[in-house]
Amino acid sequence: MLNIDLRGKRALVAGVADDAGFGFAIAKALAEAGASVCLGTWPPALGIFRTMLDRGRLDRALAFSTGEKLTFERIYPLDADYDVAGDVPAEVQSNKRYRDLGDVSIQGIADRLTTDFGQPCIDIVVHSLANAPEVKKPLTQTSRRGYLAAVATSAYSFSSMVARLGPLLREHGSFLALSYLAAERVVPGYGGGMSSAKAALESDMRTLSFEAGRAWGARVNAISAGPMASRAANAIGGIDLMIEHCRRVSPLPEAVAATEVAAAAAFLASPLASGITGTTLYVDKGYHAMGFTGTTDG
Ligand code: NAD
Repeated sequence: MLNIDLRGKRALVAGVADDAGFGFAIAKALAEAGASVCLGTWPPALGIFRTMLDRGRLDRALAFSTGEKLTFERIYPLDADYDVAGDVPAEVQSNKRYRDLGDVSIQGIADRLTTDFGQPCIDIVVHSLANAPEVKKPLTQTSRRGYLAAVATSAYSFSSMVARLGPLLREHGSFLALSYLAAERVVPGYGGGMSSAKAALESDMRTLSFEAGRAWGARVNAISAGPMASRAANAIGGIDLMIEHCRRVSPLPEAVAATEVAAAAAFLASPLASGITGTTLYVDKGYHAMGFTGTTDG
């Protein structure tokens, strides 16, 4: 039998702060396949996430089909806007959500992993985070500052993670980023430079696949996921409309489920995908293949 077997592997999933997003579903699938899973959680969301976990509010979502419960090996604070501790502005560092957390930068999480587990210590890194302060604005109304912030948080952070976590990888490591069709097609409403950020992310993924392949023998891929009503997607607005449209006109006329994206992520992280790198895999019920989504079926 051909199984996805991630026993003995350690994953870091960056961008999990509740049970509604792709990151949580991917963390769960990786754990279900046998990996131990550490999380990187954005400091402004960390306190409430820990409280939800402590109070058992996520217990149902954490339950495996076997009845066992997913536990996270570590939950590290991570603000992917910062590469090293010195990049964190004083007013952020003194903010009550940051001041007791130590180094929340991308290098900080690499250092914490090294302290906790030695080096090399990690096999799978998942980048499941994005942010754009002006996401509701069309590109023509997006400020330079907002645009660059979107690209910095949502795309450059992946390059920084590959650079800083690459040296921590064990043999046959794998990186994965989450992208969206707006990287290559027009999606009105996906604004503030987010479409540009996803285009950069996918392009960087290809370049990084070469650099990380040569440097550490690691694979780098992306999943272009169909729309799902996560916390981040709800902030954009119009997500229900997008889900309903995709559900109606896709080759498979169903909404994409987080578990489907997660299963693809577990496959890409596994030895079964040892020949796959530099690839964007669509997990969107086939929507990307459509050229006309008019009303042929009413
Ligand atoms: P989500 O809200 O579960 O995940 C986004 C995460 O990013 C949150 O946990 C948030 O705390 C974190 N984050 C924001 N800024 C950060 C920062 N500076 N540092 C660290 N973390 C930060 O939503 P999601 O939709 O599951 O998003 C996960 C990924 O999937 C994103 O890359 C998103 O663009 C992508 N994606 C989403 C959809 C969709 O329809 N939901 C479709 C395709 C791709």
